Amino acid sequence: MSRGYNFSAGPAALPEDVLRQAQAELLEWGSARASVMEISHRGKDFIALAEQAEQDLRDLLAVPANYKVLFLQGGATQHFAQIPMNFARRDQAVDYVLTGDWSEKAAKEAKPLARVRIAASAADSNYARIPARAAWDLDPTAAYVHVTPNETIRGVEFHEVPDTGAVPLFGDVSSTILSRPLDVSKYALLYAGAQKNIGPSGLVVMIVRDDLLERCPRDLPKIFNYAEHAAQGSMLNTPNTWGWYLAGLVFKWVKAQGGVVAMAEHNRAKAQLLYGYIDGSGYYRNPVEKSARSWMNVPFTLPREDLDAKFLEESEAAGLLALKGHRAVGGMRASIYNAMPLEGVQALVDFMKDFAARNG
Ligand code: PMP
Repeated sequence: MSRGYNFSAGPAALPEDVLRQAQAELLEWGSARASVMEISHRGKDFIALAEQAEQDLRDLLAVPANYKVLFLQGGATQHFAQIPMNFARRDQAVDYVLTGDWSEKAAKEAKPLARVRIAASAADSNYARIPARAAWDLDPTAAYVHVTPNETIRGVEFHEVPDTGAVPLFGDVSSTILSRPLDVSKYALLYAGAQKNIGPSGLVVMIVRDDLLERCPRDLPKIFNYAEHAAQGSMLNTPNTWGWYLAGLVFKWVKAQGGVVAMAEHNRAKAQLLYGYIDGSGYYRNPVEKSARSWMNVPFTLPREDLDAKFLEESEAAGLLALKGHRAVGGMRASIYNAMPLEGVQALVDFMKDFAARNG
């Protein structure tokens, strides 16, 4: 059996070149005479790696100088809670825009820590659209507005950054970071679990504007305090060194592909191919409003649920892996992150055509 085309939502496919490089240098990294996993994070070799990875990410996203880039742990989920801990008082409003399961979870985790307001919600459409900005009910005194620019489960994506005026905009970009250009300056804070477009799970990248760090309460335990992490270069304690290393390789790979502009062209082409086929098939269906469809996660259903098991069994046998939809929505989902080549999406479309012809 050989490597298949992996459509997993996360942990997701990594670029094959990156995996090969990691494999080649697994036992001895650079001149360390040891694996990169086996050396001190405070040694000069690892510090150089860490700084280079940060610089490459800064270059890729043109991160302005007044933002810190942090390499943290805990998954995006930990930061659902840690963000209100750092940036809101308990009695202060925080505005959440609900566009799917992840923004719902983020709002729920914030509830014990601040006064959560739901500024807008697309729940009434079963999360098939982005609520129009004009209809959002924002509180001008809120500590921040939280959005999830790409909802991994429902496949719903913001194609424009909403204007929230003077209230800082926070974005969970776990499943869209590096897939296309991102105007960092429109956000006060961005965060992403790494396991889609950055590297392995267990690493979280956060990009945060300096002035926000002044809000972090001094009485927070240090390990939860972003200002402390920033002051110590994300080395308050032992970071996820292996994740940081792999993220560095992925950043170099994205640069070699031509950066996020080239990634966007590549991702747009893949998404157009797949949605175009689904819409024209008269067989498969994607429920998301066209203007809000994700470039990264493409859910689709078959005409009858009793075909799902057969579709999954046959697609897996054809080397098209992990197409099962999230348990919350059922059906199928093809996640087509940066590392998925166009040929992988073409192979999926060819399989889908053949399956439809045989199971009409
Ligand atoms: N936010 C989004 C948009 C996600 O897709 C995920 C995971 N798939 C999470 C948050 C949670 O990430 P983690 O499992 O790293 O906590």
